[in-house]
Amino acid sequence: MPRGLAFALLLGLLVVPCANAARDAVPVRADIQVRIDPETRELTGKGAWTVPPGVSLAIVLDDRFDVPRLQVDGRPLSTVTQRDGRQQWHLARSERATQSVEIEWRGLLDPLEPGLDHRQVLRHAVPVTAPRGTFLPGAAEWHPVFIGRPLQYTLRIDIPESQRAIVAGDLASDRITDGRRLQTYRFEQPDPAIDLMAGPYRVTERKITGAGNRTITLRTLLHEEVADLGAGYLDATERYLRMYENWIGPYPYGSFSIVSSPTPTGFGMPTLTYLGIDVLRLPFIRDTSLGHEVLHNWWGNGVYPDYSTGNWSEGLTTFMADHAYREQAGPAAARELRLAWLRDLAVLGAGQDRPLREFTSRTHGSDQVIGYHKSAMLFVMLRDAIGKEAFDQGLRRFWSEHRGSIASWDDLRIAFERASQRDLKAFFTQWLDRAGAANLRLESATAARDADEWRLDFTISQDRPAYQLRVPVAVEAGPGQQVHWVELDRERATFSVRTSQVPASITLDPDARLLRRLAPGEAPPILRRVMLDPTTVTVLAGATGAGEALARRVVDHPLQLRSPEAPPPSAPLLLVGLERDVNRYLARHGLPPRPAELAATPDRATAWVWTATRATGDPVTVVSARDATALAALGRPLPHYGRQSWLVFAGGTATARGIWPSRPQSIRLDAAR
Ligand SMILES: [Zn+2]
Repeated sequence: MPRGLAFALLLGLLVVPCANAARDAVPVRADIQVRIDPETRELTGKGAWTVPPGVSLAIVLDDRFDVPRLQVDGRPLSTVTQRDGRQQWHLARSERATQSVEIEWRGLLDPLEPGLDHRQVLRHAVPVTAPRGTFLPGAAEWHPVFIGRPLQYTLRIDIPESQRAIVAGDLASDRITDGRRLQTYRFEQPDPAIDLMAGPYRVTERKITGAGNRTITLRTLLHEEVADLGAGYLDATERYLRMYENWIGPYPYGSFSIVSSPTPTGFGMPTLTYLGIDVLRLPFIRDTSLGHEVLHNWWGNGVYPDYSTGNWSEGLTTFMADHAYREQAGPAAARELRLAWLRDLAVLGAGQDRPLREFTSRTHGSDQVIGYHKSAMLFVMLRDAIGKEAFDQGLRRFWSEHRGSIASWDDLRIAFERASQRDLKAFFTQWLDRAGAANLRLESATAARDADEWRLDFTISQDRPAYQLRVPVAVEAGPGQQVHWVELDRERATFSVRTSQVPASITLDPDARLLRRLAPGEAPPILRRVMLDPTTVTVLAGATGAGEALARRVVDHPLQLRSPEAPPPSAPLLLVGLERDVNRYLARHGLPPRPAELAATPDRATAWVWTATRATGDPVTVVSARDATALAALGRPLPHYGRQSWLVFAGGTATARGIWPSRPQSIRLDAAR
């Protein structure tokens, strides 16, 4: 079954939940032939299914299809129900013998509409075809689906010669007869239903030798206009396969394909990924999302998450793909990614944060924060706790023990416990079952001479109930910086470290390695804060008509207006107006002026937007424009930039933007000499 891809959120797309309730059941064996005519949109199919004894089940098929023949061991079976757009038959249990089910079906597929977005493709789960592309998702029940039983299949696809089709599995044969192409695929790994794609593809193929001398065939099946991307995608795929074979264990299949779609979709299935033509052109797809999808052949499609007890596969995949690529680029890049995750967590509203265990699949932005990022942070902390060697050994053990079956968070924990010889129950329980995150404060620090060394005492506190944490602190002493790890298992504790040189400063978790709520100074102010806070007060300074209209678009709640003559409120402040009036307000009330970063902007800049934190701790967002027209031009774009700290606009276009650097919790020491 397809999964919507991880990058989907970036493109504003949605994602399908993937049910795998029946994966561990004894599979049904299927031998199927389908003929597809993209011009006339006709599909005809016939197949034989072998059902193991002791099984009663429902067979379903989309009701667009006629079924001229449905026989069980040579006897016809009549339709039981017909509703919700599907027809359904009941297959009674045979106690002793396997049953042989033969079905023929035919019908008209929907026309492919390239204008459909990913959300529509997902919502409708409709089988579509055109010469430009065919997509028959298993969820559309375009072939008879045996509910509750996974499927092992041989599938022969008959399509026009100029087309190629692909499904999960290995291509066993591909030949041309009388203007038709006949392709046979085999897939031995039980899957609930078949996703079929076809199109006028150009194929680029490469065979590589994988672990254990196995041949793995890499293919791209791409539309003409992106066919030149094939070699680059194969290079990247080969690199990812080698990386993960070394890290985890042999790639579980004989092939991997990248297939282009005429609609702007993104799906991942076992052995392939199906990506919109425009999506394939985005550079970050090859650099990040592709590797993430390749890795899902181990986590998600190779070992299945146990959805009833939580989905570990997105977090582990994000950690071993997105985060790992940043680590390869350097520690600063990885730190930036973790900080971005923690920043997103910091602006999650109270009702949106849930325990990680409740995450099954992504339907909202907050699910990505929890199921992908929070979950990936769990693996960052786990590796820090047990060390890279035990961590990697645990991964390999988990893979070899659970490959091809459903596994839970507990199975994962047990694999890491065995590898590390440690009890990890408390660790997993606190990160899986508690909503929110740790909230740490570096309260105080003092340094004193002690014999021929320096002793640094510092106190860290956290909210109750306390998490059990290994907390990294960086101590600057002499030319270098040294990281010390301390064990914090209560609400407040004082620790000592010794240094040979005079300590100058101490910083809490400088590399953002802990899943915690960033303190106000650590989470740089972003626009979203003032937009979402119901207590935000708005001050209009000049061009008040245009300013008020803009404020209404930006603030999520009814406006609370205050005169520019009155002192600033002790609440989040949105200041909107003309450059001169805004500057006058800032000066009069002792607020910082426009930051230097925004000053050096081109002459054509017409508006500046920035955030700051006042001495009182209250956030401020300032919108300062050349004139009323420039203010009005922000109405459409500005609400979309909630994750930024500052922007410069020329009319309605953001020409520069950024996020203020975060300031870690740090104390400078006046060491007594
Ligand atoms: Zn994913």
